[in-house]
Amino acid sequence: TIPLDNRQTVASLFAEQVQNNPDNTALVFGDTRLSYSELDRRVNQMANYLIAEGVQREDRIGVCLPRNELVLISFLAIWRAGAAYVPLDPSYPQERLAYIAENADVSRVLVSIGTDMEVFSEHVTRLVTDSEKMITEVAAQPDNTPVIAYTGGHSLAYILYTSGSTGNPKGVCIEHHSLVNILRYMKDEKPGIKASDRMLCLTSIGFDIIGVELYLPILCGAQVHMGDDALVKDGARIRDYINQHNITCVQATPSSWQILLMEDDWSPGPDFKALCGGEALPEHTAADLLARLARHGGRAWNFYGPTETTIWSSGLELGEGEVRVGPGLYNTQFYVLSPEGQLQPPGCQGELFISGEGLARAYWSKPELTEERFISLPHVADGARIYSTGDKVRWLANGTLEYLGRMDTQVKLRGFRIELGEIESRLVDLEEVEQGAVVLQEHNSNKHLVAFITLEGDSYEQGDHEVLQASIKGRLQAHLPDYMIPTFVRVVNCLPKTPNDKLDRKALQKMGTNEISQVEYKEPVSEMEKKLSSIWQSILSKERISIDANIFEEGVDSILLMKTISQLRKQNILLSLKDAFKYQTIESLAKYLEDNEKSREQVLITDEKLLKDKGIII
Ligand code: AMP
Repeated sequence: TIPLDNRQTVASLFAEQVQNNPDNTALVFGDTRLSYSELDRRVNQMANYLIAEGVQREDRIGVCLPRNELVLISFLAIWRAGAAYVPLDPSYPQERLAYIAENADVSRVLVSIGTDMEVFSEHVTRLVTDSEKMITEVAAQPDNTPVIAYTGGHSLAYILYTSGSTGNPKGVCIEHHSLVNILRYMKDEKPGIKASDRMLCLTSIGFDIIGVELYLPILCGAQVHMGDDALVKDGARIRDYINQHNITCVQATPSSWQILLMEDDWSPGPDFKALCGGEALPEHTAADLLARLARHGGRAWNFYGPTETTIWSSGLELGEGEVRVGPGLYNTQFYVLSPEGQLQPPGCQGELFISGEGLARAYWSKPELTEERFISLPHVADGARIYSTGDKVRWLANGTLEYLGRMDTQVKLRGFRIELGEIESRLVDLEEVEQGAVVLQEHNSNKHLVAFITLEGDSYEQGDHEVLQASIKGRLQAHLPDYMIPTFVRVVNCLPKTPNDKLDRKALQKMGTNEISQVEYKEPVSEMEKKLSSIWQSILSKERISIDANIFEEGVDSILLMKTISQLRKQNILLSLKDAFKYQTIESLAKYLEDNEKSREQVLITDEKLLKDKGIII
């Protein structure tokens, strides 16, 4: 046990750094560079403004801002005003933003010009951070730390919404002591941060792990560099930023590391710390990352943890041997329980339960769900609260855990947490859909969401499939973030059932695979067709791909597409992402490339809108 001072909050620990390192650079965003004392002043002015606006202790304030320096300023200011924040990712569909704001009962929301204000109900006061009025009013505020009613370790810090199985996202309430606990561990132990470190913030505001990127540096006298929207989606730009600004610490999901590793000329320096987490880390990604870091002596860690136990619950350095999940971090204990609630010995699989400082206060306004997932058992953790993670694991003899997957239908897609039930309940809300089930299918280690639906009545004809699929995806987009939109929607006569009449997800998994690869083989003829076939065969580890097969149905996704484009570039064949989406077979793409060989120019490989339109987002 590591003693925690319950009066400490991230805001109070930041204040200590302002005292110790007033002139160090704290925050960099584009041309904006704020020292610790400048950041402190900006935070105080914003906090005093919020208090003048009537913000009170434990109020919930929505933050719906694009990626810029105001995100960190706002989060800290809301805390200094005694309130809690509710992140609202501006890229979410309006309906989802409205739901979260209403569900969390936010009284005010910080937005920027250009946000559709109608999204929020009229009871929510909109504070437009970049309006002339607010800029003037904030600048006129005193820059001393406001004196407020007590905010301590057990005050509410934020409510983070994550996918919910019953059709709407659910809010997880995190208190300050939990945040302080993990940040102290990461500062002192894994990875260990010094004032000379520079951390790049790549995560979107809707995910709790952004807390590490924003707060860990400013509790250490180090620098946080906020990446802008264009940077965070482009491996080449991230590489350039890391090199130009001498970034020493980056946190990303395994999928994002894969994108960065595609940049051959990225050579992280000796102080580089690579933090991986958010989903199971594939052995090959770990090996590639370690090989790259070995050039100059950088290090990497596998972090594990659910939102409900505050960002991460453990971190384990990668080295020789297989990828494992580490034992609990400071004041955090792991228990592996059998379905009967008995502690499992090493080697026996069971569900992982977590106790300690990281545990969330509750799900926001969901007492039943809170009771279901945060339980206590007399013989575990001395009867203290434990969180039921739903993760299947087993202890190994060396005190680490082997991660074996989920016990429920929650899935991870490129690090995004998705309850399949949330998509399914949106599907059956559509008028023509009678039943719907969604599975995450893996094709040659690429994951796609595939929806299976049965239709009301018998109005459907095979030829309508493309139109129907596009229309269903379009309507889902009104409610769900892009990463929750299925890549494929299949119409079936009935959904497979188990003998006791439950949905047979295993059968669905197979059904999809068969349907997707039902193309008769047509071999490559022209030189270009042969080149493309060989690239895609090696990327997809397939012996052959018919030249008239749809490459997306063969398993190509956005990451693999980027890999393809970069391999083509090495052979002096320039292909834009736009064209790669347009010509979806080897045959049509080869013809296009042959016809346009001379006229093509250097093209941009990342086109966010296009990825979104296709439902394939990084
Ligand atoms: P989230 O609440 O979005 O952080 O998702 C938490 C879930 O992601 C966990 O319960 C795991 O299922 C999964 N997860 C996160 N990190 C890891 C990891 N390092 N290894 C395996 N699974 C992970």
